[in-house]
Amino acid sequence: MNEANELSALHGADLSARYAKSLLGVFGAPSRVLVRGAGCHVWDADGNQYLDLLGGIAVNTLGHANPLLTSVITSQLATLGHVSNFFSSPTQIALAEKLLEISAAPEGSKVFFANSGTEANEAALKLTRRNTGTAAVPRTKVIALEHAFHGRTLGALSLTYKEKYRAPFAPLPGNVSWIPAGDEAALRAAVDETVAAVFIEPIQGEAGVRELGAEYLRAAREITSAAGALLVFDEVQTGMGRTGEFFASAGVIPDVMTLAKGLGGGFPIGAMIVFGQQNTAWLTPGDHGTTFGGNPVACAAGLAVIHTIENQKLLGHVRETGNWLRAELAGIDGVGEVRGRGLLTAFELMDGSAPQLVGAALDAGFIVNATDESTIRLAPPLIITREQLGTFLAALPALLTAATAA
Ligand SMILES: *Cc1c(COP(=O)(O)O)cnc(C)c1O
Repeated sequence: MNEANELSALHGADLSARYAKSLLGVFGAPSRVLVRGAGCHVWDADGNQYLDLLGGIAVNTLGHANPLLTSVITSQLATLGHVSNFFSSPTQIALAEKLLEISAAPEGSKVFFANSGTEANEAALKLTRRNTGTAAVPRTKVIALEHAFHGRTLGALSLTYKEKYRAPFAPLPGNVSWIPAGDEAALRAAVDETVAAVFIEPIQGEAGVRELGAEYLRAAREITSAAGALLVFDEVQTGMGRTGEFFASAGVIPDVMTLAKGLGGGFPIGAMIVFGQQNTAWLTPGDHGTTFGGNPVACAAGLAVIHTIENQKLLGHVRETGNWLRAELAGIDGVGEVRGRGLLTAFELMDGSAPQLVGAALDAGFIVNATDESTIRLAPPLIITREQLGTFLAALPALLTAATAA
């Protein structure tokens, strides 16, 4: 390939055409082809710059090309990149210990590493299948919440609420039923000795950042414990400092917690934390496994993310910046309800022009996301500044006008 061809091959339109010919169409056409990132910005193949207010969907905790994360990952890769799970590595052990520490896990709690959120939930689902009840009263049911999103592999999909995602792939595993989210009476009525587990996202992310509240989480703990059902918190999106705490469920200890997205700061990793001696006994040698899960590079990334959140005191920054952002958003004409915690925020557009706003924002150099026709979600890197967010807030009135006109 000569130089001119190589340059034109990096042209956005060209790359998009090649994408359409070579990648399975499950995501639709990509908005842009991105070639580079630094801090809270990314650049596309045509050289346009964007402020990344989505952070790879709550993944790029430390922004793009974070120097510490990059150096930790590359030096781990140069030292020991992969070992089978017949072996362990110091980073794997250290990350497991660190996760147990920051989740205030009681003695006897344990971690299982996977590579993604859906895999962490698959592991949780397998574990909850062991809560079988008795021959006289078998525990065959799993309860999830309306509008829940738990992933796309068959097990996690069986817990996901959206009929459109599930229906084409029936029959799915599990005897799952959905109850209204945040409704304590509905939970109390649904959970009896035939229920093996209840899956809850403390803040429903894909549903448009809908908070269930500490009181509901505490009630869920009490109700599941009383019935002998396992309580699973899916913190894949809300975990790892996103909400200004390490976990959105802080203060309520579930039986199982699943993590992924922000944990590796962009390096793929998922985790399941199993709380307490009794729960860890459900899975024993041979019951579950993975080739890549817990590999030294992914675990080094996870450790670097947690250490950076601690050393740079990012949790306080996330709380303050998020509160400020929501107050500013609420003062903008055309913005309806504003929801969220920390740097996980959603706002409503009364005229249902959220997809159009995503397009207008992209053209103006901002990456945001629509969870439905009327909801915009923001999940920027935890390091984002008020000044950076301020550029979006300043542009928003004109973007809203453009979206409505589109
Ligand atoms: C994204 C997400 C998942 C699935 O994670 P993947 O890494 O995409 O498999 C599961 N649960 C929640 C709450 C999520 O936000």
